[in-house]
This record gives sequence, structure tokens and C-alpha cells, in this order.
Amino acid sequence: MENNYWRKCSTCKKEINFNAIYQKCSVSTCRKNVYCSVTCWDVHNPIMNHKSSWAEEERAPSKEQAANEREPRRIIVSAPKSSTQGSSNDFPLDTLIVASKLKNYIKERHDMNTSANVMDKLSDLVRELSDQAVLRARQDGRKTLMDRDF
Ligand SMILES: [Zn+2]
Ligand SMILES: [Zn+2]
Repeated sequence: MENNYWRKCSTCKKEINFNAIYQKCSVSTCRKNVYCSVTCWDVHNPIMNHKSSWAEEERAPSKEQAANEREPRRIIVSAPKSSTQGSSNDFPLDTLIVASKLKNYIKERHDMNTSANVMDKLSDLVRELSDQAVLRARQDGRKTLMDRDF
């Protein structure tokens, strides 16, 4: 792909050459668009319904600069992949039970005390049941765990 121009004007599709002066919209969501002239920039303004905007004069990169710009972006994209791999295995083994509420329930309903390690045991059971339910949700092709999976 041997381009002899940098990009095309978003309005008139005229080619904007390397090192050429071009116009850019001041609105941040619009910055991917480039315009060959202020006139072409003016055309998009009523379409996008900007409240306050202006054209910014910029200089297009040279052919070499444009080619170099593409390389670092790939490195940035691939970076987060490796960092998420480790975190999937060391999941938290927190207590999932609200101790005060459970103790209160056992006391009120059965007039019985609850020992502290019951919370750990129940947390393990909740994790087990959740893991099994997740398998059912996966078989269903879902990304959301639902009450009917239990
Ligand atoms: Zn144009
Ligand atoms: Zn704009």
C-alpha cells in the first residue's frame, strides 16, 4: 500500500499531502476528522451540531513520520493482555457472609449461637455453588450469572 498522500479530507475527499497544512476540528470527539480547508471544516459544523468549535490549523506529518506513528500503537494494544493473565488465578478468598446478619438470624429463629468458622465454611459453599452455576450459565452461552443457574 503505497500512498502518495497522508489522508483524505472528511468532507470533499480531496487528498491531503504529507507535510501539507490541513484543518482539524477543536471538538475532541471530532479530532479523527481532517479537512483540506476551513470551508470544508465549515460544512461538517451544522451536521455535528457543535455548540462552540473552531478550525485548528495543523501540518500533516511527513511520510516517514506517518509510517513510524503506526508501530508504537501495536505495542500499547498488546500490553494489557499479559497483565490480566495472572489475576485470573489468584481470586480473593474473602468471607462472603455478613456475620452479624447470619448470627442474628440463627439467634432469632433458632435461639442458637454461631461460631466464627461457620462464616468461612459457608463462604466456601457459596463459592462452590457459584462455580457450578457459572458452568450452567456458560453452557447457556451467557455472560451473566442468573438466579435460575442455581
Ligand atoms: Zn475538503
Ligand atoms: Zn467537529
